[in-house]
Amino acid sequence: MPAELASIEYDELKALLAELGEPAFRAKQVLSWLARGYRPDEMTNIPLSLREKLSAYPFGGAEIIDERRSQKDDTLKFLFKLDDGNIVEGVLMSYSYGKTLCISSQVGCRMGCAFCASTLNGKVRDLTAGEMLSEVTAVERHIPTAADKKRTVTNIVMMGCGEPLDNYDNTIKFLKRATAADGLGISPRNISVSTCGIVPRIYSFTEDAPHITLCISLHAPNDELRRKTMPIANAYSLSELIPAAKHYADVTGRRVIFEYALIEGVNSSDDDAHELAKLLRGINCHVNLIPLNSVKERSLNGVTRGRAAQFAALLERLHVSATVRRELGTDIDGACGQLRNKHIGSQKEEGV
Ligand code: SF4
Repeated sequence: MPAELASIEYDELKALLAELGEPAFRAKQVLSWLARGYRPDEMTNIPLSLREKLSAYPFGGAEIIDERRSQKDDTLKFLFKLDDGNIVEGVLMSYSYGKTLCISSQVGCRMGCAFCASTLNGKVRDLTAGEMLSEVTAVERHIPTAADKKRTVTNIVMMGCGEPLDNYDNTIKFLKRATAADGLGISPRNISVSTCGIVPRIYSFTEDAPHITLCISLHAPNDELRRKTMPIANAYSLSELIPAAKHYADVTGRRVIFEYALIEGVNSSDDDAHELAKLLRGINCHVNLIPLNSVKERSLNGVTRGRAAQFAALLERLHVSATVRRELGTDIDGACGQLRNKHIGSQKEEGV
């Protein structure tokens, strides 16, 4: 019995159909529906009897139940309801090259980063590969593809609720289906996975997904500072994390991306920039600077864009490639976990 239909592979589906006494040619038809996020009862060219049989299996769906559009830019934030009622969120951002969907990999998160709203109530559970795929297909079905485009979502970043490498097997399975020609068919080069720095998993990831871009949330130039905002730094020091990042870059030939949220009065001084440049010397990398989207529950504030630009310029002068990322969706609780927490909070207020 398949774990769920949304992430089933061709061979598994063929075996399932054989078990159900159905002809093998149905596998391609059914898979084409599944890859676009359709449930069995929506598969119009499949006989009713087979649709009914397939409906008996878990699907692994994610349905859009709320949508916020930024008034400042084209960013769209979604709340997805999973089949068991859990809620996760996603953000669709528009760029000149296409649309990037940021998806969630877990309900909540157990990593405890101080600047993150997703972790405030801990981790509830991992998402399955099918649920992650369903976040993408739900958005694709919700927003019609422009006439001159092949698809709505051109890029995926795993940077929403959850730590993807803490849900390793499902993440790898998701990546396989997301890049497969008979799955979502998205180029691996257009997919990024972000980790807070689970070192052994970075080595596994380098083996298992060498074509996917790896982003590492660094957020501090030394262990002492990093431990203040990221509990993972107690488990793995920078003397372990940085060699793992270098290993990824050396083996894959791909630049590793370091995410660095600039927090006022915490990690954004000139001295911090000098220390960061020294730490990253000799690594094929790029630093994405993000003025922190303030998290009211944590009383942490981002720096101004002017200060972020100065910090980037200083890194560049120190021979570290760096850019300031556009802050998108600041008016719609764009930071990871904020909208979901609001939704859960309002349900509690209403006694749901
Ligand atoms: S930043 Fe990422 S790893 Fe850290 S708590 Fe938030 S979701 Fe988890």
